[in-house]
Amino acid sequence: MFCILIQAQNKIDLSYYLPQNTTYNQNIPTPESVIGHQVGEWHVTHDKLVQYMYSLANASDRITIENRGKTFEDRPLLLLTITSPKNHQRIDAIRDSHIAATENNPINTANMPIIVYQGFSIHGNEASGANAGLLVAYYLAAAEDDTINKLLDNVVILFDPSFNPDGLQRFAYWVNSNKSINLNPDPNDREYREVWPGGRTNHYWFDMNRDWLPVQLPESRARIATFHKWLPNILTDHHEMGTNSTFFFQPGIQSRTHPLTPKINQELTKRIGNFHAKALDKIGSLYYTEEDYDDFYYGKGSTFPDINGGIGILFEQASSRGHIQESDNGILTFPFTIRNQFTAALSTLDAAKNMREDILNYQHNFFKNARIEAAKENGKAIVFGDEKDAAKTYHLAEILKRHKIKFHGVKQDFTIKGKHFKKGYSYIVPKNQKNTRLINAMFEKRTTFQDSLFYDISAWTFPLAFNLDYAEDISTNNAGAEITNLQHKNGKISGHSNYAYVMEWHEYYTPKVLNKILNKDIRAKVALKPFSLNGKQYDYGTILVPVQNQLLDTSNLNKFLTELAKESHVQIDAVSTGLTHGIDLGSRAFKTMTKPKIALLVGEGISSYDAGEIWHLFDTRYDITVTKLDTKSIGRSDLNRYNTIIVPNSWSGLNENNTKKIKTWIENGGTLIAYKNAVKWVNSKELAKLDFKKMERTAKNITFEQRSNYKGAQGIGGAIFEAKIDRSHPINFGYKNDKISLFRNTTIFMKADKNSYNNPIQYTKKPIISGYISKRNLDSIGSTVPLQIKKLGKGRIVAFTDNTNFRAFWYGTNKLLMNAIFFREEL
Ligand SMILES: [Zn+2]
Repeated sequence: MFCILIQAQNKIDLSYYLPQNTTYNQNIPTPESVIGHQVGEWHVTHDKLVQYMYSLANASDRITIENRGKTFEDRPLLLLTITSPKNHQRIDAIRDSHIAATENNPINTANMPIIVYQGFSIHGNEASGANAGLLVAYYLAAAEDDTINKLLDNVVILFDPSFNPDGLQRFAYWVNSNKSINLNPDPNDREYREVWPGGRTNHYWFDMNRDWLPVQLPESRARIATFHKWLPNILTDHHEMGTNSTFFFQPGIQSRTHPLTPKINQELTKRIGNFHAKALDKIGSLYYTEEDYDDFYYGKGSTFPDINGGIGILFEQASSRGHIQESDNGILTFPFTIRNQFTAALSTLDAAKNMREDILNYQHNFFKNARIEAAKENGKAIVFGDEKDAAKTYHLAEILKRHKIKFHGVKQDFTIKGKHFKKGYSYIVPKNQKNTRLINAMFEKRTTFQDSLFYDISAWTFPLAFNLDYAEDISTNNAGAEITNLQHKNGKISGHSNYAYVMEWHEYYTPKVLNKILNKDIRAKVALKPFSLNGKQYDYGTILVPVQNQLLDTSNLNKFLTELAKESHVQIDAVSTGLTHGIDLGSRAFKTMTKPKIALLVGEGISSYDAGEIWHLFDTRYDITVTKLDTKSIGRSDLNRYNTIIVPNSWSGLNENNTKKIKTWIENGGTLIAYKNAVKWVNSKELAKLDFKKMERTAKNITFEQRSNYKGAQGIGGAIFEAKIDRSHPINFGYKNDKISLFRNTTIFMKADKNSYNNPIQYTKKPIISGYISKRNLDSIGSTVPLQIKKLGKGRIVAFTDNTNFRAFWYGTNKLLMNAIFFREEL
């Protein structure tokens, strides 16, 4: 049995995959004729996949192809549009009438094609999807019979052959380079054990299947643009799961469906599921539904469409990971996994064709009902902004723009509920508009839930993630003109000075400016206290650049700072006197800063997600160079090159030798910043004494069957919490309010210090603002602290239990990390 299978795998041909009751156009190149191997024999690399897609598009009048942009590693983000040649000739008209049916227009579904967006392998090491994509595209281009003609007449397929090109390439390199001629299904073989960080994520190690709502990454940006351009009726997302599983298709766990998703969505998902079941029955493949996964977080590919009038479908295939692997279901071959994905892709299209009118009507009604809801809120709006941070405000507005949500400027400055909304620093989102449901999904705070388990985070309230002021239910009378051409606020310098320049610290990109100043060996100081000068208030953390005794002369310094202000969108003020109200510019309360030299620990033992978020933040937002120091290189690296080392969330901490080396480095003056689980390592190795709340738990009236749900409900999967802050502490410089919101997904609760001045950030008594937390955990977290700063020798340790850089869209707490770095000597 073993041998036959292994041989069969080597001799696989197209007939294993493709429907045999049809003929195939000889003028259409097979995958093998272009990529040089049969599908499933090797893992297709992304460059070969691109080559094949272009060859198909060249050969077939059913396919057009476009490149929508590129990944961080410069790979193209392709989209194929596949439909009948007749439909291609009027493709713009088809799109126009499809979108018109979601507006306030009557619908005539008789001759309307249905739009299906098919995407593959958003997790790069779940490769059966993208490899199946070669076959799906070939079949759609080459098959010749009534079935395919009817299908292509009735369906427009937006075909996204690789959701994650960089991850797919990284994974293909790994498995192909570890493949033996004699395939070895032993799970211990290196082929099945990728090295850190693996191929799941993109270049900066993001899970891209969490970015459909925040749209912070280039891959998502291209995809979301296509989504809103077409508003597909069905969107499929082909994944892999554990090797011992079978095949999963949605619907997922019903009690965890987001309440803003209409019930009919799940009913239609179920009906579509019948087509998958029938097709998989036919090839003898096992599958299951409804017991796993959910449609709660709208940032996932299979859930995002559900709040946009479409139907998202998740597929999960048991992974062979490499080419062949032992499993509970016998030998699992890569071709077998590809065939299941191929089959599900075709059954999706079959369902789309057969349910076309029902699904088109569903979408039409989705928007019709949304309009009715929206009309009830006519005149109402949401306002958000930060009178001291235009950039952060801009970046939230940018997300709205990507989702085609309309917003306005404010007519004039106004104050509501104690919050001041300043023109140029605030936007107003009217509730009465097409995407009102999406607006609710982005802005709502939710703390009651039907279920206590979540596949992913339970809250993502955007204005909280950005730590912006906001108010709901305000009047649209405050709205100015609609913003159709969103612009970053211009940065500028107020003039030329022979004395000094000052810059408040609130704007998002000030760390970028400060880093460039320090790196040019220009002396800069930070104000530990507020002051006012020329009638303007300057808050804690204002940066001072004296003009005299610098490496640049007066005019070159002005030129340099002018450039920085412009490129970083900040305001720098020229001042001509040191005499202020409050601390004068020569005061001891201005501290000279030194440039940061930063190492970021990466590699085995470190969470690649958390490390990648930090790398991405420094590299793409602040232009700050960080050394990615691999945990296995600590021993042979000279740590004295760095004054700051960041330890992202870490499962295991560091070994004895590395810990010892880092301890000595701290004692000599280094600043160690540790996140989440790494703070436990800090405590256990006595780098700092931290006091944790012990969490003991005894199950009562919980059956054996209920035990895993019971345990799961005690976790914090991701929710938003409120803390009060001491604005006079340097860790909080640049925050203008006395409270901030924090994202947390751990149950590490640190007790507050007995001296209040050592608790610059402290959770309020009942700190949950949005998301799920068990009552027990809520009782435990109240009045604890997410941050402790401890001295060790000449250095210090900054311990964060929360993630300040979550998934690139938590702009609101990035500054805490920046403060820990730039003001480290004042902590
Ligand atoms: Zn996946």
